[in-house]
Amino acid sequence: MDNKRIYLSLSELSGFEQEYIQKALQTNWITSGGPNVDEFESVLENYLDEKLFVSALNSGTSAIHLALVLLGVKEGDEIICQSMTFSASANPILYQGAIPIFVDSELDTWNICPENLEIAIKDRIKKGKKPKAIIAVHLYGMPYQVDEIHSIADKYEIPVIEDSAEALGSSYKGKKCGSFGTLGILSFNGNKIITTSSGGALISNSKETKDRAIFYATQSKDAAVHYQHSEIGYNYRMSNICAGIGLGQIKILEENISLRQANHLFYKEIFKQVENAKLFDNLNNNIFSNYWLNAVLLKTEEEKESLRIAFEKANIESRPLWKPMHLQPIFKKYPYYGSRISEELFEKGLCLPSGSNLSNIDKNRIKEVIINFFK
Ligand SMILES: *Cc1c(COP(=O)(O)O)cnc(C)c1O
Repeated sequence: MDNKRIYLSLSELSGFEQEYIQKALQTNWITSGGPNVDEFESVLENYLDEKLFVSALNSGTSAIHLALVLLGVKEGDEIICQSMTFSASANPILYQGAIPIFVDSELDTWNICPENLEIAIKDRIKKGKKPKAIIAVHLYGMPYQVDEIHSIADKYEIPVIEDSAEALGSSYKGKKCGSFGTLGILSFNGNKIITTSSGGALISNSKETKDRAIFYATQSKDAAVHYQHSEIGYNYRMSNICAGIGLGQIKILEENISLRQANHLFYKEIFKQVENAKLFDNLNNNIFSNYWLNAVLLKTEEEKESLRIAFEKANIESRPLWKPMHLQPIFKKYPYYGSRISEELFEKGLCLPSGSNLSNIDKNRIKEVIINFFK
């Protein structure tokens, strides 16, 4: 058997992408914005919740940045952010000259901890500044504790930016992730559950906000025959070609989710037999994860590293969990609220191959490594 590399997460093409790209080329719609972009937005709106509005952008990172701009975040403002995440959740805070305040995770969902969130809010208010926004993340597709987090946010009247970059197709109590925040964001980067090659979206509750996001994303052009600008503009709009890929991809979103959930069941079956490892799983039936990535907690940091090396020897990619932001050199100096939950997750957690394209042969190779490792 050949020993081709098994990657952590690769997307597969549906075959329909070509058609939309061809149409864009034939009609000379090869700029940012255009009919594919409009259609992609409306397909996403129908998928998420008909009451929502989607602005298609060129990345999830730009969506988070525009969310901060739309909430009026300015230099010196404080923004609470889940520490356990990818740096793209937090970097835009610095783009605005604002100050990130990091909060630890809790063990059930690995996402922002409600208790520490409230402690952080109270303490920041006591120190003189009420946080301007909360960035909460559905890590690896697993919904955060939506009811708890949003009731705290509501209590203190702080808007939530819902980072749903990894959670398209996940839901909480039957409602789709991306629909809970004051503003939500999606990513369609190449490694996400569906891709536009590179892309993202901002989700809001009003046509006004949607249009405002597109205004900022297309260089903030005032209504004038010449180019006139009264506000800072950005070049953040999704291209019509990328949206064509997205329209082809969204046809296989449900299929991808089923495949990723099948991957999860595959791991569940294996780790049932392993005493000292805990597969990342949902807490109860209110929570429906798309299982974008599967991850496992080992007993020790050394064991995690040995398992990673065992995979590597079999030419299988695995990766430690996100290194928490409060431990990153660029973010170290900012305040942090919590204990060592996210640090321990980082030390002992390993992400496992979870692509929609894992074959049975791939799965057998993965299983063999795990079984031999724990023997
Ligand atoms: C991928 C990702 C982003 C950023 O999306 P891009 O489209 O890559 O800019 C933001 N947050 C999280 C949690 C992500 O995984």
